[in-house]
Amino acid sequence: MLSRPRSIFGESTSLGRTARGFATLLLAAAVALSGSVSAFAQNVPVVRDAEIEALVRDYARPIFKAAGLANDGIDIVLVNDQSFNAFVTGRRLFINTGALVTAETPNEIIGVIAHEAGHIAGGHQQKLRDQLDRAKTMAIIATLLGAGAIVAGATTNSKGLAGAGMGVAAGGGEMAQRSILAYQRTEEITADRSAITYLNATGQSGMGMLKTFARFQSALSLSGTQVDPYRISHPMPQERIANLEVLVKQSPFVNAIDPPALQQRHDMMRVKIAAYMQGQAAVARLMRKNPTSLASRYGDAQQTYLYGNPTAALTKTAALIKEQPKNPYFQELRGDILMKINKPQDAADAYAKAASLDPARSGLLLVSLGQALMAVGTPDSLKKAVVQLNNGVGRDKENAEAYRFLAQAYGEEGDIPAADLATAEGHYYAGDYKNAKIFAMRAQQKLKRGEPRWVRAQDIINYTPSNKPK
Ligand SMILES: [Zn+2]
Repeated sequence: MLSRPRSIFGESTSLGRTARGFATLLLAAAVALSGSVSAFAQNVPVVRDAEIEALVRDYARPIFKAAGLANDGIDIVLVNDQSFNAFVTGRRLFINTGALVTAETPNEIIGVIAHEAGHIAGGHQQKLRDQLDRAKTMAIIATLLGAGAIVAGATTNSKGLAGAGMGVAAGGGEMAQRSILAYQRTEEITADRSAITYLNATGQSGMGMLKTFARFQSALSLSGTQVDPYRISHPMPQERIANLEVLVKQSPFVNAIDPPALQQRHDMMRVKIAAYMQGQAAVARLMRKNPTSLASRYGDAQQTYLYGNPTAALTKTAALIKEQPKNPYFQELRGDILMKINKPQDAADAYAKAASLDPARSGLLLVSLGQALMAVGTPDSLKKAVVQLNNGVGRDKENAEAYRFLAQAYGEEGDIPAADLATAEGHYYAGDYKNAKIFAMRAQQKLKRGEPRWVRAQDIINYTPSNKPK
């Protein structure tokens, strides 16, 4: 059984094809200014956590609605990176844990989301932006490596590359870059204005956005060892900040503050990221301001669990549950601690409670429940584990890690074709298509031709980058 912390940041997994595509764009921008490629390797390091995903989704939902984007079903992708970055693409919001832990209020993050939503509102703009992103990528890499090499790469890697983009790449192009940057300036101003519209529509202040952008604008943010990707992709000239400040202060909601309950969830998120990713000193720094707050006591319980005595952590978590009996994530923490001290049945009860309390219906809690049931180890609990793990991946289809547990559970039950298919799914969503196909073929050998699982295996076998099955 697993004894390490699992609810957050324990696993670092890749979103596969989609995430890698975005990583490429970021890579190009990072290379241009810092000359460093190490910050963005092939994969975006994604972390999963039910509590943080639900909170960020709650931040984004009203803004997306005001922007006329998705009504629901926004995928939150948490990127395990201490620098500041956030970007929206389609229904996916990518946000660095570094941005979340830096922001002192929900409003600072909501402002950034509003600005990003401004970039993607309007389908034709999105298309143009895609073109420009490609062109920019091409132009920047062309400048660094010489145009020939990159054009050769582009013809094989980027089928959708438009004629215009190709022209930019072939020309190398200081001129092309200049026109793109001019376009980008206009875009930024437009996105700022849209952001204010969405914030006004939802009765929220633009002060958080202004504070974040002003921080990037200041000389201070240049002196760090790490360059924030957001700063690179969002030029913040003085006049832009000044214009934004005027807009923010004209708003009737300039003095609106976040509801206290939302601020409390934000504080709990920050302390959680600090506990799991930054260590005890960072937790202590956040707790110093208000050592007896619920967030501080949550941080204390978490670090007691991570670095100290699980039994003491259990007592501290029980006190938290007493104060907020309906908080699913306190139950989740209780489950994590019980797993660590080898009480899987009690852990399963805690995770089941967490799942029943979770308004966001996160698949992650069900996967934890499934793992605890597997650890109980009776035939009956194994059967229940398979059900919960299937429910978990049903809600959270791209959770590659969950398929591996599901495969293990099927294997223990002796259902080998189902285990092979789950293994295939796991590889598939991890972006390892070669092994996905190998296991899909193995599954098919033991399945009846044409039955649903056989068909699903065939989808995986047939996969090519242009016809990714759903
Ligand atoms: Zn922008």
